[in-house]
Amino acid sequence: MTSIPDGFGRVESKIDGITVYAPIARADQIASPQNFKCPNCGATTAFDPRAASVTCANCGSVYALHAQRVGREAAEFEFTVDTLNSALRGWGVTRRDLNCENCGATTSVGPTELSTTCPFCGSNRVAARAAVPDAFRPRFLIPFQIERAQCQTLARAWLQRGWLYPRDLMNMARSAEFTGIYLSFWTFGARVRAAWRAQVGYERQENYFDVNKAKFKTRTVIDWRWENGNITVPFDNQLATATSHIPARLLERLKPYNLDALVTYEPGYLAGWRAQSYEIALNDAWDRARAEMREQTRQAAYAEIDSPHVRDFSMNASFDDEVWRLILLPVYLTTYRFQNKTYQLVINGQTGKVAGDKPVAWTKVWLIVAALLLPGFVLAGLGLVLAVVGGAPLFLIGGLIFVGGAIIAVYLLQKAMQAGEA
Ligand SMILES: [Zn+2]
Ligand SMILES: [Zn+2]
Repeated sequence: MTSIPDGFGRVESKIDGITVYAPIARADQIASPQNFKCPNCGATTAFDPRAASVTCANCGSVYALHAQRVGREAAEFEFTVDTLNSALRGWGVTRRDLNCENCGATTSVGPTELSTTCPFCGSNRVAARAAVPDAFRPRFLIPFQIERAQCQTLARAWLQRGWLYPRDLMNMARSAEFTGIYLSFWTFGARVRAAWRAQVGYERQENYFDVNKAKFKTRTVIDWRWENGNITVPFDNQLATATSHIPARLLERLKPYNLDALVTYEPGYLAGWRAQSYEIALNDAWDRARAEMREQTRQAAYAEIDSPHVRDFSMNASFDDEVWRLILLPVYLTTYRFQNKTYQLVINGQTGKVAGDKPVAWTKVWLIVAALLLPGFVLAGLGLVLAVVGGAPLFLIGGLIFVGGAIIAVYLLQKAMQAGEA
């Protein structure tokens, strides 16, 4: 009979007849992680980005999470029926789903959270129900590192950039409520092997006899010939959004996430935070990722061709070593209404990077456009008048002033339009 060392406990063994002991994780002592009650005082605990642990706001207890830091080498699944069947489902903890009747988003909240607002659209028309654990469980996540208290400062700094925005926007930022939410992302890897074939054109100088001018001249001609080649492009950790309630272009602007910070999923990280299960299914996300990898492979093949002239390009691509995983990334989300339109503002919960759509103050923009165009128009008008009333010399001067004024006007209009888009 072996004696069990202090702090060790028996765990489930994968091999018959062999008993396995492992250190008893302190996280297991946070009751059964079915609820996030503080073992010390019974209050509700929450994950605290500053302490990188689960803490109790009531008694100050800190409970370390025993997740493993795995980084970008985190294990991946192959696309086999086996891995799909064996993948765990649900959050591994009791949570509730909030269904928004306005935008249709489902948000996962803690079992005791009394929340009635949809973070994606700001609507109060939400209905809560028990979560059905049918979706894949995320295997890894990046914990929140930015605290909620920092969000308004980050948002204000972002809104202040540029000057064509309505002044009330700052008041909006001051009163904005940020929701910390773990969003689901798929990551994909694959090796793409492609065989391509195309007509490649090479420039050549040629002498010819110009019949009209009755002399020899040179001209450039392109000789086309068929070429082919093979190319292998490895793809690793391609992030694919899994929510359909934040535009992909906004999430794209939140990148990069530093995947070195990936840890194994522990339900404790979700304590006190919202989460959203994937809305874009694995197969659909994979189809999009494949199309993207194909396009990048095509560009890599083009880059290998030693000429800018390519036509009739065709490519046969095969995908090997295809792998996927489901991860959670931290995002702060707020919505605000401006002139009957809802705007989303998102913040990368790891880096603090901000992305969103800003309303444009169009009256301001058009006043500026008008002010900028005025000198050009005045000059052009003056030139036109001179040209009409004057004799030959005045006509010439007027014409020059007109053309100059028109050029300035067009240039200023372009500038003004760019300023409006910034
Ligand atoms: Zn406590
Ligand atoms: Zn909603």
